[in-house]
Amino acid sequence: MSCSPAELKRKSDEFFGKWHACEAHPGIDGFVEFAVAVSSFTEFLEAKGLAGLHQLARAVEQQVLSQLDNWSSDAIPADAQIELDVKISEFDQRMVVFLDGNLEAGPERRLHEDSEVISDLVPARRIWLVTSTPEAWNEVVTQAGYFNIQVEVCGPHYDGKAALEPTVVLVDSNGLESTAFIVRVQALRGRFSSSNIIGLHLPSEFDALKLALRVGCDFCFPAGTAQSVIMARIVKLCGSEEEEPYRVLVVEDSKTASTLIQRTLKESGVDSLAIARPQDVLTALVKFKPDLVLMDMYMPGCTGVEVTRVIRQHEEFLSTPVVYLSADTSIALQVEALRLGGDHFLTKPFNPVILNAVVKSKIERYRVLRRSMFLDSLTGLLNHTTSKQRLDSAAAAAKGENSPLCVAMIDIDHFKKVNDTYGHPVGDQVIRSVAWLLKQRLRKTDAVGRYGGEEFLVILPQANADRARQLLDRIRMDFSHFRHPVRNTAFACTFSCGIAQLRDGVTPQSLIKQADAALYDAKHQGRNQIVIR
Ligand code: GH3
Ligand code: MG
Ligand code: MG
Ligand code: MG
Repeated sequence: MSCSPAELKRKSDEFFGKWHACEAHPGIDGFVEFAVAVSSFTEFLEAKGLAGLHQLARAVEQQVLSQLDNWSSDAIPADAQIELDVKISEFDQRMVVFLDGNLEAGPERRLHEDSEVISDLVPARRIWLVTSTPEAWNEVVTQAGYFNIQVEVCGPHYDGKAALEPTVVLVDSNGLESTAFIVRVQALRGRFSSSNIIGLHLPSEFDALKLALRVGCDFCFPAGTAQSVIMARIVKLCGSEEEEPYRVLVVEDSKTASTLIQRTLKESGVDSLAIARPQDVLTALVKFKPDLVLMDMYMPGCTGVEVTRVIRQHEEFLSTPVVYLSADTSIALQVEALRLGGDHFLTKPFNPVILNAVVKSKIERYRVLRRSMFLDSLTGLLNHTTSKQRLDSAAAAAKGENSPLCVAMIDIDHFKKVNDTYGHPVGDQVIRSVAWLLKQRLRKTDAVGRYGGEEFLVILPQANADRARQLLDRIRMDFSHFRHPVRNTAFACTFSCGIAQLRDGVTPQSLIKQADAALYDAKHQGRNQIVIR
């Protein structure tokens, strides 16, 4: 679980508190407020990866929104009220059971004792594999161990009895009748509130996947999916990377309107900045780096469409989503607004639930797009260009603060031999394992990029060369102990590393050259070592 039980308890109390308030004072205003609360709690549970609770919250949210849609009198009809009560109390009970279990449980166990991989920085994640063919998953189990993910393998009739909820439950449908698989997933979904359930080896037909998702799987992999793809999903779900809060820039000349918008966004955890003067928009975009702009249509001296056209003249803001808010509902205006660079049109007075849903879905897609622009698709690390840009800004910051900065260049040893002996896909997996290890073991403030095919650039702010060596040498040593599984055997691999520290008068580009020269020395001195320049 990526949030503490105490934080979840607080959020949950807040949410059920809103429900009781809404029950005590029936009426549309209270109900709308509750609808916002349920949407925001649903999103919170999703963001925290609490898959089972998220599914229950989503069911409540759907019920609430359909009530809102059909609102006619001043209270909810009795039958709908009963249905909602049932869903909410089911949700409430699951939450209580889950919180009880987690508030009592101590810190998660660590993997140390039973692994050769030293990892005192990240606590082990536990996942379960329910399968009747465990031998088919040997490689996945071994590999997971290297990333500090402990896989407990259980027979196909495992019913979910466990002290702590695992982060992920893999359910292999191979060898199970399809109804037996469905029953299994339902039982596990009923048992686990936070775990992500992944269906494996499913038929790839539409109906089979639809049913598996409907009964509670969070992800499904059809038979024939490469194990590295499954592994990548597991590593992602077990990762502890927190997403930054979404940021919205509100361009709105009316103070009342912008206050209302900002309050609504804040309800669902979105950060915002409001500006009243359209001419401040470029400065605000640069400083605040929003994921989306909410644009008023009519402002003194210019229209929202004109502001958007100015924004779109700047390459870096070409894809920033712009959503218009306007009391004018004319179709002609909406068409023009969308044609000239807008992404969506909402009418005022806005429905807070819709506003949040539109903002979030646009931002989600925008972030996916940005990720694909800035990150390397094989490893999820920064790509070549972004690594260099990151180094430029890290070097400027280090000079400004007069603090140390180191750059490390890492290259896998004799990698051609890996490709030649085991094939390109196995080589790719080795590249991924270096990437995952670096990402898991370095500090949050460090940056890691895939600089070339099997070359990595590491940026270490606030670290002098000795400190950088210390950090990286442990990673180097651990990596050299990894056993990369391939068919029925496994092989080892090493990397070499060159480190250079930023000095006065040195440009980022020549810092990279120095690290590269140090790497060259490391290779020539026998590989599997670190050299400082
Ligand atoms: P050295 O110890 O001197 O570094 O030896 P090496 O064999 O690793 O030599 P070098 O670094 O020059 O080799 C890089 C090889 O990496 C060549 C290329 O075929 C392979 N490679 C580059 N990108 C990828 C990739 O994305 N996937 C795979 N599987 N191989 C790649
Ligand atoms: Mg206005
Ligand atoms: Mg190379
Ligand atoms: Mg190499």
